[in-house]
Amino acid sequence: MRIMVCGGAGFIGSHFIDYILNKYPTDFVVCFDKLTYAGKTENFEHNLKNKNFAFVKGDICDKKSVEQAVEKYDVDTIVNFAAESHVDRSIENPNEFLQTNIFGVSILLQVVKEKGLTRFHQVSTDEVYGEISLQDTTTKFTESSPIAPSSAYSASKASADLLILAMKKTFNLPVTISRCGNNYGARQHEEKLIPHFVKKAIHNEPLPLYGDGKNVRDWIHVYDHCVAIDLILKKGKVGEIYNVGANNLLSNREVAEKILNVLEKPQSLITFVTDRLGHDKKYAVNFEKIRKELGFIPSVLFEEEFKNSVLHYKDSLV
Ligand code: NAD
Repeated sequence: MRIMVCGGAGFIGSHFIDYILNKYPTDFVVCFDKLTYAGKTENFEHNLKNKNFAFVKGDICDKKSVEQAVEKYDVDTIVNFAAESHVDRSIENPNEFLQTNIFGVSILLQVVKEKGLTRFHQVSTDEVYGEISLQDTTTKFTESSPIAPSSAYSASKASADLLILAMKKTFNLPVTISRCGNNYGARQHEEKLIPHFVKKAIHNEPLPLYGDGKNVRDWIHVYDHCVAIDLILKKGKVGEIYNVGANNLLSNREVAEKILNVLEKPQSLITFVTDRLGHDKKYAVNFEKIRKELGFIPSVLFEEEFKNSVLHYKDSLV
């Protein structure tokens, strides 16, 4: 395959590039990234000497740059990670989220259509389904759960998903979508929960938990997410949505407690701050479809790799 990974300088996209280059040494990978505040050259520069890798600085909202990269590198597949991805920022300033997360996807779809690419895969999120109540201990989102986003971020991702499915209907475009839970692992931007709390803890500063800290998220290691996307590219059915999860449900308070335990810091550093507006209570992903149809089995051991991620941030953040 000759894959263009949009958003490849970010957290998950950069791991996906490493995964593909490592597993398929004859594949060619183009990292196409605008290098916003969230994209870092250090996330991919170790690949610059690889003859099967190229970096293009570009914006998915700029059709000419996307076309040029696709033509220059004879791309047959686009995997799109590029997005504004931080919910808190979308509350303050939604416009950039709508621009990149919806309009940018529309541009990519136009290029897929006009250049006749063989696959477009969109990396979406479980947040498009909205929330499950904390009292509900049985419900998990399936691919046919209603779309009910709570933030400009999740609304923009849901809109992109709908646009992609519409373009499949209109033009029979070769699209797939994955909806994944919260990822953990190295290279996450330090504004996100785990690195943010690790940084606070190593400086003996309070860990600010939104609301009562009971909000539950479904955690998956970034490696398992990459495995799932690879399976969808290889064996997934065009036009289908696949939920991706690993059955690691934790409240934000539990995440904070675990971080403090790993770093041997006192639990008294936990503090509670005004809740995020529209804060979803709980996400939980049913991933039976990808398990049964594509054989996806998450393999990363949560306790071990969660600890390793915390220690990684302890060493890399100052
Ligand atoms: P990230 O913020 O770390 O990386 C996003 C990357 O996209 C950055 O490198 C940024 O420079 C790039 N980018 C932003 N706007 C762009 C544009 N207009 N053109 C080209 N590049 C642009 O995000 P992440 O956490 O790695 O998430 C990647 C994708 O996975 C996102 O689409 C997100 O919605 C989805 N997702 C993330 C999680 C998670 O837990 N992080 C969970 C489920 C789904």
